[in-house]
Formats: sequence, C-alpha cells, structure tokens
Amino acid sequence: MKITCVGGGPASLYFAILMKRQRECHDVTVFERYPAGRTYGWGVTLLARLIDLLERADPQTAFEIRRHAFRWDEGRVIISERQPAYLGGAGISIGRSHLLEILVKRATDLGVQVQFEHEVRDIAEVAGSDLIVAGDGANSRLRGLLADQFRTRIKVGRNKYLWLGTTKVFDVFTFGFVATEAGWIWYHGYGFNSDTSTFLVECSPETWAGLGFDQLGTEASIRLLECIFAQHLEGHPLMAREQSTDLNPWLSFRAVTNERWHHGNVVLLGDAAHTTHFTIGSGTSLAIEDAIGLAAKLHDYEDVKLALSAYTRDRRADLRRAQLEAFASARWFESIQRYTALDPYQFGTLLMTRRSRFQAHLPPLVYYHLFRTASSLGKLPLLRRLRDRFDTRRRRLLQSI
Ligand SMILES: Cc1cc2nc3c(=O)[nH]c(=O)nc-3n(C[C@H](O)[C@H](O)[C@H](O)COP(=O)(O)OP(=O)(O)OC[C@H]3O[C@@H](n4cnc5c(N)ncnc54)[C@H](O)[C@@H]3O)c2cc1C
Repeated sequence: MKITCVGGGPASLYFAILMKRQRECHDVTVFERYPAGRTYGWGVTLLARLIDLLERADPQTAFEIRRHAFRWDEGRVIISERQPAYLGGAGISIGRSHLLEILVKRATDLGVQVQFEHEVRDIAEVAGSDLIVAGDGANSRLRGLLADQFRTRIKVGRNKYLWLGTTKVFDVFTFGFVATEAGWIWYHGYGFNSDTSTFLVECSPETWAGLGFDQLGTEASIRLLECIFAQHLEGHPLMAREQSTDLNPWLSFRAVTNERWHHGNVVLLGDAAHTTHFTIGSGTSLAIEDAIGLAAKLHDYEDVKLALSAYTRDRRADLRRAQLEAFASARWFESIQRYTALDPYQFGTLLMTRRSRFQAHLPPLVYYHLFRTASSLGKLPLLRRLRDRFDTRRRRLLQSI
C-alpha cells in the first residue's frame, strides 16, 4: 500500500511507524514543510495512559519516550502575593522537539521516507497514493481544500496566549496568577527536561490590550512578561521559539471539529481532525491515539474505506469526553474573575476540578463545598478501595518513568 502522510507531527510520524511495523512492504512517506529539528512550542505533558498504549503499540518508541520524559510530582497554585496552595497530582512531560526527534529516528529506521522542507500545497501532488493522511495540524491545508466535505467548524477562543520557554525548572507543575492594573494574567509552568520548562502565558483580551501587548513584538512582550512574573522566574529569562519581531506573537486558541473525518482516500488525523484546549494538556496524546486507532482499523479491514469509517466512528466517540472537558477548562480560564476572591486552597481546588460540567453552573463556593463533601464521602470504605485501586495503577505507571 502506498501511504502519504502530510505533516511531520506526532500524529503522522507515529502512524507511519505503526504501518511500517504492520507490514514492511508498505511504502510510507511523510512530508514535512519545515527543516529537520524545527518546530513550534516547547514541552508537552503526556497522559499517564499514553505510556501504557505506546508500550503495547511499539515498545521501542515507548522506551525512548520513557527514557527522556521529565516527571513532576505536585501541582501548585500561586495567586498574587498569597501563600501557594499545594494540591497533589503528578505527571510527565517531554520537549516537543525531542519527541519529534525520537519519532523521526524510529520511523526512518523502519524504512519510512521522511522528507523535510517539502510543503504539500495541493492534493493533486500526492494523488497517486492509496491513502493520504492529513496530519498537517490545526490549520491543516489539506482539510481546508476539502472543507465542504469535512464540514469543518472552527471556534476561536476569547483569551490570548503565548507559548514560551524558560530556564527555570519547575519540578512542581505551577499555575501562577498575577493581578495587574489591567486585570489578571497567569502562566502554566512545568519542566520538560533538566534545564528547561514550558511557560505558557494566558490572559483576557482586555488585559492583553490594557498592558499594551497589542502594540508589542515578541522581544518586547517577553521583556514585559519577565517584569510581570519576576518573582516567579527568580531571575531566569523567558524564551520564544523563534526570535522574531512579529508584531503579534500572541495567539487565540482555535477549537477545530469536523463532521466528517475522511473523504475518498483522504483521512484527517490529530489536530487536523480535532483540537482540545491546551489547558488540558492532551492534544499530543490524543493525536497519537488517533494514529493507533487508524492503524488498528487498517489492520482489521481489507477495504480502506471501511477502515476509515470505523476509525472515524470509534475515535469520535472516544474523544467526546476530552472535548467536553477541554471546553469546560477553556471556559474556566475565560471566567477567572469568578474565582479570584477565593482563598488559595479554594481557588486551587476549583482550578483542579475545572473540567467538571457542573462547576460553571453553580456559585463557586457552593461547588467547592459540594466537592469537599463528595470527597469526604469518597473516604467510605468501598469508594476508598475503588479510588485506591485507580491511584495504585496510575502511580505504578508514573513510577515506571
Ligand atoms: C499552547 C499549546 C500548548 C500545548 N500543550 C500541550 C501539552 O502540554 N500536551 C499535549 O498533549 N498537547 C499539547 N498541545 C497540543 C499539541 O501540540 C497538538 O495537539 C499536537 O502537536 C498535535 O499533533 P499533530 O501531529 O496532529 O499536529 P502538529 O504537531 O501540529 O504537526 C503538524 C505538522 O504538519 C506540518 N505541516 C503543516 N502543513 C503542512 C503542509 N502543507 N505540508 C507539509 N507539512 C505541513 C507542520 O509543520 C507540523 O510539523 C498544545 C498546543 C498548544 C497550542
């Protein structure tokens, strides 16, 4: 089978690896528009269940990712000058460029042709393939060319964000909120290797304009953010992926959904098919899960069209929960003025439970007390046993990192 994957992100690369593992004789090519080693963004968090899935799908990739993953052991919320609230939790992250390096090497070793600096502009360029995988990200060009068939919907988020890195290593996953004269601005900080962290800044458009970010290029935005977050950064610099002088380095999140995920022999994978807000840190894991799902269906069905239909049906259903949670999480950060008067522990508890469908519909303190009551009911023997079993499994997975 001749397979062409457009876009060299985690979705396409992992799919290419799995197809080559399935049958060595598959002819698999990945086209990536950028040169090797160039990408956007910094470190990404990975879902705990992903390592388990990778282990089953391709142990060698799992081993490499596990070897290079960075582990953090606690969640912390800092609001202005108030005492930090520590809220438990643990997780793993990895540098996006490192992850891609691992995937490119594995794909190439298996015989996938990875062609960098090759931008696909039209479907006609790859028309001779039995299967065309549009893994070209949230702004997918291929999807755009067939937008009527896929029935794409894009909802632009309200808040502004800037994905930066820093040399300060956050070994505790930190949400830091600072009150400025123009409103609240905050970051999500987490380490992803021994000398770098992701530092993702977010604020409302009013705060963004009020602080003058609408008039600042990348460098000037970074210098101002270093002042705003000086206490949190403890002298460490912030870094942009590319030192550009763009007038508007800030972005608004684009929530992408598609009514259909395939048309003819073209199939959407990863962010091209769906995006989930970055505040739930799942997009990469979900993109890789798409790759696993698609490869499995192509293994199970002789007929490519039947395989694509089954992939679409199952993955859409699997994603429903993550999409609802991502929606609730994005809304939470768009409404933080509802919560900022709470004490740090209450605020942190609501932040950590922001994916709940109910939270937005209840007064914050009512939800907080309901949550606390439900948690203490969780200490009843049967519920505690169930929760402990879940925690043990999760801990075991994380300890294996
Ligand atoms: C601010 C932010 C923070 C995030 N944090 C996390 C996180 O912590 N954890 C997490 O799991 N996810 C996170 N994500 C989401 C994650 O980055 C994506 O979900 C994931 O990268 C999707 O993988 P993909 O392979 O589908 O697309 P991408 O990784 O976007 O890859 C698409 C590739 O296609 C290439 N391309 C595009 N057009 C063409 C073309 N025409 N021809 C050839 N090549 C092309 C691009 O250069 C790119 O390399 C975050 C996203 C954002 C925006």
